[in-house]
Amino acid sequence: MKIENQIMAYCPYCNKHTLHKVTNYGKGTARGQSIGTRRHNRAIKGYTGSAELRLIVKKLAKKQKIMLKCTVCGKSVERVMGDRSKKKIEIKR
Ligand SMILES: [Zn+2]
Repeated sequence: MKIENQIMAYCPYCNKHTLHKVTNYGKGTARGQSIGTRRHNRAIKGYTGSAELRLIVKKLAKKQKIMLKCTVCGKSVERVMGDRSKKKIEIKR
C-alpha cells in the first residue's frame, strides 16, 4: 500500500481539514514511574512468572497504522489504514 507523504486530513484540534505530514507509526516507551508499570512489576516479582494468562489465539496480521502531524497546530493523530493486512505501508518520497 503506497501513500503520499503529505495529505489533507481532518484535525480534531483545529476542527477542520488541514495539511498533514505522514510518518510511520511507532509505539512509545512505557513510563517507569507510572502506576500501571509499578503495579505490574509488583505482580510479577518473586517466583510467579506472568501476572496475566497468555493468549493462545494468534492473529494472522497486524492493522497498519500511520501518524498524521498537523502542519498548522503541530499535534499528531494516528490513523488505521484499512483492516488487518500483511502488506506494509510505504510512504512516497
Ligand atoms: Zn491542527
